[in-house]
Amino acid sequence: MAEFTMELNEDQKQVRDWIHGFAADVIRPAAAEWDEREETPWPIIQEAAKVGIYSLDFYAQQFFDPTGLGVPMAMEELFWGDAGIALSIVGTGLAAIGVLANGTEEQIGTWIPQMYGTADDVKVAAFCSSEPDAGSDVGAMRTRAVYDEAKDEWVLNGTKTWATNGGIANVHIVVAVVDPELGTKGHASFIVPPNTPGLSQGQKFHKHGIRASHTAEVVLEDVRVPGACLLGGKEKLDERLARAREKAAAGGERVKNAAMATFEASRPAVGAMAVGTARAAYEVALDYARTRTQFGRPIIDNQGVAFQLADMRTQIDAARLLVWRASWMAVAGKPFTSAEGSMSKLYASEVAKKVTGQAIQILGGNGYTREYPVERMHRDAAIYTIFEGTSEIQRLVIARTISDMPIR
Ligand SMILES: Cc1cc2nc3c(=O)[nH]c(=O)nc-3n(C[C@H](O)[C@H](O)[C@H](O)COP(=O)(O)OP(=O)(O)OC[C@H]3O[C@@H](n4cnc5c(N)ncnc54)[C@H](O)[C@@H]3O)c2cc1C
Repeated sequence: MAEFTMELNEDQKQVRDWIHGFAADVIRPAAAEWDEREETPWPIIQEAAKVGIYSLDFYAQQFFDPTGLGVPMAMEELFWGDAGIALSIVGTGLAAIGVLANGTEEQIGTWIPQMYGTADDVKVAAFCSSEPDAGSDVGAMRTRAVYDEAKDEWVLNGTKTWATNGGIANVHIVVAVVDPELGTKGHASFIVPPNTPGLSQGQKFHKHGIRASHTAEVVLEDVRVPGACLLGGKEKLDERLARAREKAAAGGERVKNAAMATFEASRPAVGAMAVGTARAAYEVALDYARTRTQFGRPIIDNQGVAFQLADMRTQIDAARLLVWRASWMAVAGKPFTSAEGSMSKLYASEVAKKVTGQAIQILGGNGYTREYPVERMHRDAAIYTIFEGTSEIQRLVIARTISDMPIR
């Protein structure tokens, strides 16, 4: 008998329904308030910690689901609740996964608990890679990490920008240049422990959407961290740098580096966030179209409206399928020969932007007001085509992968 199935198993359904319940009962009702306040929703994060949704255990369980669907399922449900609040809840996980995937056992045991804090005293973590002059162009990164051998310390200097939870995090993960000759291969990640002198928050950004999620600059001025804070350890870094130097000396073949594979594996998670927002707006629009009456009949009685909803639903389902395929490929160890991770993020994020816009149209004047959630969802959806690689960068990755040409 063929083993192929597209049905979630009973455990997955239970987890999905549990997360959905939290999203419906706790996140969604708080969404408008925290969007207006433009502040980190600490009480909601605390609630999530109390029920076990804000914890490494939760994230790790979804991450290690052997079907690959644990993370996309969780993301879709949380972001269905509200994107800004959900990002505040999962932002720490994104930083923690970096430590989980690349850190030593000691680093995992020491720092991840400090990223989350406890249910009574919740903390958050930040992942800081982007810089004012190095957004899409990660190779232009300038933040430097210099090793002080005498003290076995790394000294970090530079300015990071757009960091989710930047400056308010207990633990910051900072990507910095250790060997400027090697481009992105000369980068390494550092754990900056709580209250380290020299790290400060720069400006906090006032954003178009996901306003419950804190986004800020992080300034690093002679930040000294112990040698043990280099993610993965010095030995591993030295080996990696030596290999990169050898390759560069041998003529620098076009590098298909490990970081690219990591991005391919993590991008579907962002696609799943987009699916969550799109589905939320679609559901509001469907409900509205059934109940709003004009010309003596529900507006959904018009093909012009009903067909829009049919297209919205079709595109959301197609986006989810791309996300699930890429998530399954990542855990099954299948090579992303056509950049399927990027495909899923590209398609889902564009669908979210489009569908949330259509939802506003279906709600008419009401859709344009803050009395209804679709205008917030539309503002929120705009982030998906920007962060974790813009749509143009996804297209670049896909084009390069399918053509094996250095498309620019
Ligand atoms: C709310 C928010 C949260 C974020 N959170 C984090 C975080 O936690 N940590 C972190 O490190 N970063 C984070 N980012 C940064 C995010 O990843 C970057 O904004 C993104 O990578 C784009 O970089 P940029 O803003 O500098 O745009 P740019 O790279 O300057 O791009 C500007 C425009 O030019 C286009 N473009 C650039 N190069 C090319 C090319 N070669 N071909 C075609 N088009 C091109 C882009 O697609 C885009 O449309 C966040 C950003 C936002 C807005």
